[in-house]
Amino acid sequence: MGVLLTEPLGRALSGCLDYLAPEGGCGTGDFVEVPLGPRRMLGVVWGAGEGSFDLARLRPVTRVLDARPMRAELRSFLARAADYTLTPLPAMLRLATRSPGLFDPPGARKVYRLGGPVPNRLTDARLRVIEALRDFAGAAVTLGELSEAAACTASVIKGLVKAGVIAEEAAPRDLPFPTLDPVPGATLLGDQIAAADALVANVEQGGFHATLLKGVTGSGKTEVYLEAVAATLRKGRQALVLLPEIALTAEFLKRVEARFGARPAEWHSGVTQTERRRVWKMVSEGRAQMVVGARSALFLPFQHLGLVVVDEEHDTSYKQEEGVLYNARDMAVLRGAICGAQVVLASATPSLESWVNADQGKYQRLDLSSRFGTAELPDMRAIDMRAEKLPANRWISDTLAQAVRARQAAGEQSLLFLNRRGYAPMTICRACGHQVGCDDCDARMVEHRFLARLVCHQCGATKPVPTACPSCGVEGRMAPVGPGVERLAEEVVERFPDARLAILSSDLFGSARALKEQIEAIAAGGADIIIGTQIVAKGHNFPLLTLVGVIDADLGLQGSDLRAAERTFQLMRQVAGRAGRSGDRRGLALLQSHQPEHPVIRAILSGEEEGFWRAEAAERQAAGVPPYGRMAGIILSGPEVQPVFDFAAELARRDGPLRRIGAQLFGPAPAPIARVRGRHRVRLLIKAEKGAPLQAAIAEWLAQLKQPNAIRLAVDIDPQSFL
Ligand SMILES: [Zn+2]
Ligand SMILES: [Zn+2]
Repeated sequence: MGVLLTEPLGRALSGCLDYLAPEGGCGTGDFVEVPLGPRRMLGVVWGAGEGSFDLARLRPVTRVLDARPMRAELRSFLARAADYTLTPLPAMLRLATRSPGLFDPPGARKVYRLGGPVPNRLTDARLRVIEALRDFAGAAVTLGELSEAAACTASVIKGLVKAGVIAEEAAPRDLPFPTLDPVPGATLLGDQIAAADALVANVEQGGFHATLLKGVTGSGKTEVYLEAVAATLRKGRQALVLLPEIALTAEFLKRVEARFGARPAEWHSGVTQTERRRVWKMVSEGRAQMVVGARSALFLPFQHLGLVVVDEEHDTSYKQEEGVLYNARDMAVLRGAICGAQVVLASATPSLESWVNADQGKYQRLDLSSRFGTAELPDMRAIDMRAEKLPANRWISDTLAQAVRARQAAGEQSLLFLNRRGYAPMTICRACGHQVGCDDCDARMVEHRFLARLVCHQCGATKPVPTACPSCGVEGRMAPVGPGVERLAEEVVERFPDARLAILSSDLFGSARALKEQIEAIAAGGADIIIGTQIVAKGHNFPLLTLVGVIDADLGLQGSDLRAAERTFQLMRQVAGRAGRSGDRRGLALLQSHQPEHPVIRAILSGEEEGFWRAEAAERQAAGVPPYGRMAGIILSGPEVQPVFDFAAELARRDGPLRRIGAQLFGPAPAPIARVRGRHRVRLLIKAEKGAPLQAAIAEWLAQLKQPNAIRLAVDIDPQSFL
């Protein structure tokens, strides 16, 4: 029989190896352990063997593992996804087998939970254990996981067990998840009712169907798609909800628990190994009705998947940019199509791809136009920075400052948005103009005063801020240029001395828990002015927030990325939507811009979204770029620049297979960031018509040349980032 292994065996092979069946036999889809040389490997029986080997030399499968066989639907999904992304099938299988302990026998182990009363006085280590257990919220946790989460030794935990504060119990492995009760939920209002009815009708009809659920921030999208989840559960099928960011999960899980009476399964990188194993197993046995997770949850072995929701479907974090390059939004639609599930893409500012699919009738479109309850969209205005005459090293215009003061006096919150982490994006020498760059990348180093270091945002390398110029050696002339959130904070402290300030930037928090606590404190009114980067755009709810000031609305428009306009539009709309989300306060959003007449800025302000999408779609169509044409990026990298260029040029010379499908090849050219982590990067870009068989042509093209060992090659179908 053919067994697909989780490690690639070279380009030429299908990834399957022939093995003899073990004693007792095994069937297609079984998870098996097989010998490969001296190693034991995980694999899945993929079908009949190739039969070209000498039977006497075949080795038998060592054993069949204790897991439900992989369903044909999932095998088909992995094969199609591998073909689409030009990923070796074994690498795809690895995404679907990321369950710790697949090799383990069923058995029992010890788990820990809060037991007796917590004493008032505790050592720091003991306090960390208690806090960690509260964070796990009743999830199964082992001694090793708990000591890691609390950063303490096992003896601290054992001491707490002895003191009766925490309980140690033998638990059977992998308890099923509590049953969710899909009773009718919250009262829906206005167009929420029609949208929920349409989704429920789709679920009841069954089969694959994709819907774009478009609703402005605060319109109650979540309540609407939770009705589709409820209908799915009533039919005895499983539901998956993908979220773009782990920090949003806690708030979301609370809402699900309030709606369905129990917590669903949770799947992302912050979940313990023990819990991951439990989720994987229970999902495969149909004993987890609902999973809330990150993009990798798409590869879980669902028994009866009936619904996939991709919330904030436009979010760039759905594109996996390392390892297997895939877009979870597109893969969700593929998985839904293969297993006959409903797919709901939800967003206030959809990706242009989804907008076009809806416009062309491939997806159903449901609109939630009014805000839930009485809150309205904020009033949006531009501040023309050419007229504001700001002194050097100041970034908050007087117009914006006045608005902030008015909110502070009224006991309301203001958000100052700047999508730049750190203190200053540039450090330059005032004597010679030298800019401090990363030693390993072609990127400028960003000063982080919080860390007292310069940081490379490409590779993470850091160095101290130099006192003497590394180029001309002159002392004391190094100066920060431009604002990051930390520097903006200095200006706020100086100009609003009596305001309580909070900064939300992903790098300022050591843990997801610390970030969550900060968000909760702000929501409860614990700050007057919030300074935030992109993370504030992602769906956090701040009821007292009535003013959003965008420090530099032009920032995203400067790149040459084909999605620059789309991204700026989405980000500005999302950020502005933070203002006045609930209650009777009408929000105000002020955008500081040097080009308020720019079509994107005008579209943001006017709120004529459909007009913006239509214009943007027309431009892409004229240029023959996605979603009207297809693109693929090829990134080659290596330690020496010349061999990488030579290999890329050789590939470009042999572009016959690409030309045969009418595709154009651009490059080789240095990638926009030409060096990352000491590796030189060269890119080729392929553009083809929409219906062209792009993947097959690329596979044929690349198979012509053997890639030198020192050179890495990555194929990025439908690239999102052009770095
Ligand atoms: Zn200098
Ligand atoms: Zn670097």
